[in-house]
Amino acid sequence: MTSLLDKSTAAASPKSPGHGAAFTPHLYSLRYTPELGWHDGDLLPMENLSLHPATLGLHYGQVIFEGMKAFRQQDGSVAVFRPWENARRFNRSAARLAMPELPEHLYVDGVDRLVAADHGELSDHPDHSLYLRPLMFGTDANLMLRPSEEYLFLVMAFVAGGFFGDVVRPVSVLVSRDQARAMPGGTGDVKCAANYGPSFVAQRRAQEAGCQQVVWLDQAERRWVEEMGGMNLFFVRGSGPGAEVFTTPLTGTLLPGVTRDSLMRMASRLGYRVAEQPVSVDQWRAECEAGGITEVFACGTAAVVTPVGQVRDVDGDFTVGDGGMGPVTGTLRRALVDLQHGRVPDVDGWLH
Ligand code: PMP
Repeated sequence: MTSLLDKSTAAASPKSPGHGAAFTPHLYSLRYTPELGWHDGDLLPMENLSLHPATLGLHYGQVIFEGMKAFRQQDGSVAVFRPWENARRFNRSAARLAMPELPEHLYVDGVDRLVAADHGELSDHPDHSLYLRPLMFGTDANLMLRPSEEYLFLVMAFVAGGFFGDVVRPVSVLVSRDQARAMPGGTGDVKCAANYGPSFVAQRRAQEAGCQQVVWLDQAERRWVEEMGGMNLFFVRGSGPGAEVFTTPLTGTLLPGVTRDSLMRMASRLGYRVAEQPVSVDQWRAECEAGGITEVFACGTAAVVTPVGQVRDVDGDFTVGDGGMGPVTGTLRRALVDLQHGRVPDVDGWLH
């Protein structure tokens, strides 16, 4: 474990903590049994778990998780961005996988205890944050094909630099025409482990094609843009204050991102026209070529706001705008980052 950690941290850059390996020293743990409900909440050292090889969640995929970030504030304190939203999404995921509900206050309490213990690991580097990863899985040592009766809820954290490196650069994306991420009636709108493993082949293909991310399409017609592997997509028409900012509607097969929701509200407050609108790949290409769609960006807890510069697709590659970061993307990125770091008033009470 140590050697893996050293390698990936070193690979990112000598100064950057990278994304995913710079773990903090503690782990919050809470158990569930049908007899006692949620109990035994405790802050433990971050170390290996001891699991029975028949741990049900490992076999049948009863595994859900969340992702949030805590940010260093101007006054030196640390605040978590919208944890109650993630607690609600966590419970939607739990319900979809026949797992017990975790009362929201227990979720947030676990996060608070970990942050209180480990926030000292976060420097005041403006581009670093504490990425928080709650996880819950079925722990029965039983291979009967049924939901687990017992569960473990964990919260871990790592210090994060930029998801795509420490400098904000436009990403290139590959449209996945043959593989699908989610299907109607499936689990695309919740955050379960089973949504991610099957996306790795397409992600690898994207990387082989010189791209950083996969654009997932709807499964029925394979033409409507849904989202990317770990982030939602926004499109901009026009420029300046009258620009239109739109994102794909929540069809039930994409994840309702907390960042997506936050940006829709912030964009509308900044005076942009905001909409949820379906967009097909052909329309995306045609509008980019005609100058209708001027900017596209990805957003998520890890990606923050990242411009999309190039799109690769079997029907023809294209460039968004001039391939760089557009002004609306830049404005929204700054607004979000300023809010998360407490540099502007938190009018919605999103900082916890
Ligand atoms: N889509 C997927 C598939 C994701 O995994 C994520 C990251 N949670 C997002 C979108 C963005 O969601 P959020 O803004 O809540 O991080």
